[in-house]
Formats: sequence, C-alpha cells, structure tokens
Amino acid sequence: MNVLVTGGAGYIGSHTCLELLQAGYEITVVDNLVNSNVESLRRVQELAGKSLIFEQVDLLDHSALEQVFRRQRFDAVIHFAALKAPAESVARPLAYYHNNLTGTLILLERMAQFGVKDLVYSSSAAVYGDAERVPVSEDAPCKPPNPYARTKWMCEMILQDVHAADPQWNIIVLRYFNPVGAHPSGRIGENPLGIPNNVMPVISQTAIGRLPELKIFGNDYPTPDGTGVRDYIHVLDLAQGHLKALEKLSTRPGFEIYNLGNHRGYSVLELVAAFERVSGRKIPYRFVERRPGDIAISFADAAKANRELGWRGERDLEQMCADVWRWQLNNPEGYPEA
Ligand code: NAD
Ligand code: UDP
Repeated sequence: MNVLVTGGAGYIGSHTCLELLQAGYEITVVDNLVNSNVESLRRVQELAGKSLIFEQVDLLDHSALEQVFRRQRFDAVIHFAALKAPAESVARPLAYYHNNLTGTLILLERMAQFGVKDLVYSSSAAVYGDAERVPVSEDAPCKPPNPYARTKWMCEMILQDVHAADPQWNIIVLRYFNPVGAHPSGRIGENPLGIPNNVMPVISQTAIGRLPELKIFGNDYPTPDGTGVRDYIHVLDLAQGHLKALEKLSTRPGFEIYNLGNHRGYSVLELVAAFERVSGRKIPYRFVERRPGDIAISFADAAKANRELGWRGERDLEQMCADVWRWQLNNPEGYPEA
C-alpha cells in the first residue's frame, strides 16, 4: 500500500513514517520543511532499514503537488502538514488560515483529481476549547478558542462536506490530546525551532540547561494542585493510531472522528515530578500568571477509538518522560542543521 504523508518530516509525522515503514507500507513524504529538518527522515530510514521518497514541496504550490500525484498512484493520504502554534496564530491569523485551510483545499483538489479518496486528518483536542465536561467525547460541542484551533475545526467541516457530496470518500479525523515522548532509540524526537511553546520540551530543555527555568502558567486553577491538567499521550501510541486508522479506511467507514488520548490527566507539577524521577535532574520552576486562553483541565474519552479502531495508548507517563530525556541527552541541540 502506497501512502502520501504530508508534513512527514515533523514531530508526529516522522514517528508515524517510521511505524509505517516498519509495517511494510511504501511512503512518500511531502513537506516544505517550514518547521522541520530533513535529518528526521534520514534517521527514520536508518532506523527502519528501508527507504521512503521525500518531496520538498509546499502544499500551496498547486503544480508541484500535482506533479507528485502524477509520478505515483497513492492508495491513501495522511495529512499532518500545518502550522500549529496557538499563540503565533493569534498574532498571524492570515498565515494560519492560508497555510492550514488553503493547503488542505489544494490537497483535497489533487486527491479528487487523481481519484485518491482515503484520508486520515490530524486534528486536535484544541477544537473543543473549554469543554463543559471531562472526559471529553467526540460529540462534545466544539468551541475552538484561537485561529489555530479554528483552522483544525474548519478543516473538519470541509472534510465532512466533501464526504457528504461524494460518499466514495473515506475520511478519519483524529483529534490528538497532548503528544509527548520520542522514539526509544533516542534518534528521533520533538525538535522545536526557537523557544518551545509546549510544556514537555520546555521541561526537557530546562533539565539539560538550555533554558533557565520552567515558568508554570497559573497555580490557581480548580485542579488538585492548582496547575493545568492535560492528557499526555506518547507519540508512538499516536503513530500507531494512524496505522489503525488506515486499516479502518479499508472497511470504507465514511466520515468518522476519533479522540486519541489516554483518558487520564496529569497536572504540570505531576509532570515535573515524573520528569525529575526519570532524569535524576532538578527542574527549577516558578509560578507565573495564567497563559491567556489556557483551560484548567482536559482529558479524553477515547472509548470510541478503543472500540472501533482497536486502539489504546500503552505507554505511561514515566516512559514518555524517559524517552524524551534520552532524545534530549543524545541531541542537546536537536537535529543538526541539514
Ligand atoms: P510539526 O510542525 O512538527 O509538523 C508539521 C509539518 O508540516 C512540518 O514538518 C512542516 O514543515 C510541515 N508543513 C507545514 N505547512 C506546510 C505546507 N504548507 N506544505 C508542506 N509542509 C508543511 O507538527 P506536529 O507536532 O508533528 O503536528 C502534526 C499535525 O498534528 C499538525 O497538523 C498539528 O496541527 C496536529 N497536532 C499537533 C499537536 C501537538 O501538540 N504536536 C496536537 C494536536 C494536533
Ligand atoms: N505550561 C506551563 N508552562 C509552559 C508551557 C505550558 O505551565 O512553559 C502548562 C500549560 O498552562 C498547560 C500545560 O502546561 O496547563 C500544557 O501546555 P501545552 O502548551 O503543552 O499544551 P496545551 O495547553 O496546548 O494543551
């Protein structure tokens, strides 16, 4: 089976590419490297002992993308490519809407043109916003709180309409909770450019001394220790969720949405404690003001993915931290510049 992976050089994409190669899929990655480094794919191929095709193409480039579809016949597409930083999206809404919406529209047009109608789409728990109830299930109302989250939610709507107009399309939307972790080899992992936004890379870069301290955004939330609670999910469990989604597509499911999370929340302080245990390093931290737009607590009801995809997250918080720490120790500055 030949799969086109957009954004495959990125954090979640690279781990998914490795799982796909190991499971025997042929893959072509399309990525413009705006937030990644081709070294990730070199290492993916080295770990798998197999090769993939890499096309450095921007999804916004109609004709270059068309050429990719002309060169080969794809059975399915996994669409990771997007800009993903919520705070940046508030400052640069047009860049986010253009990249994430137009990029998806152009991809869908090419897929329709070449008769490729099976798609797995990367969405986010961010579409729920401040949910009324936890655990959050797929039928909870969506209140995306920032332009980034709105791009994810609008793409979901577009995909639903595409399927409604032509039921030949099979589309699985995966709403990820908080992806963390790295491959246990320590060869591939999350490689944020500049100062990270997400808490796990801030913790690991603090542990190794690249950052002076972790600023904890708020200690007065209505949670057991006052810090924000999230459902952290190991990136390899997420990657395997994509393989399960591809298998599901072969049963022609139509349009479906699945949460991928562990049904369990941890606070920032619990995360810090787990990371300290695993790394043996002290993480200096300081409480600061709440980050605008943050919510107190979010964790997944992932029963639907469990029931219908046969998927569940298997790696616990200690393993997530241990794998991040190995990646950070082996690559203190991230991937070398290509
Ligand atoms: P990432 O930035 O590491 O990977 C995204 C990749 O897409 C990058 O390699 C980037 O270069 C590429 N890309 C972006 N715009 C492109 C374009 N126009 N053309 C070609 N390539 C383009 O991010 P990630 O963490 O791996 O996230 C992957 C997907 O998962 C994204 O769609 C993101 O919205 C979604 N997601 C991520 C998280 C998270 O916390 N990491 C949570 C929920 C959902
Ligand atoms: N967080 C923090 N300091 C940071 C980054 C994040 O205290 O430097 C907190 C944040 O307030 C939230 C949790 O860590 O409670 C997870 O934040 P992240 O940005 O990783 O994920 P998201 O908020 O998008 O779920």
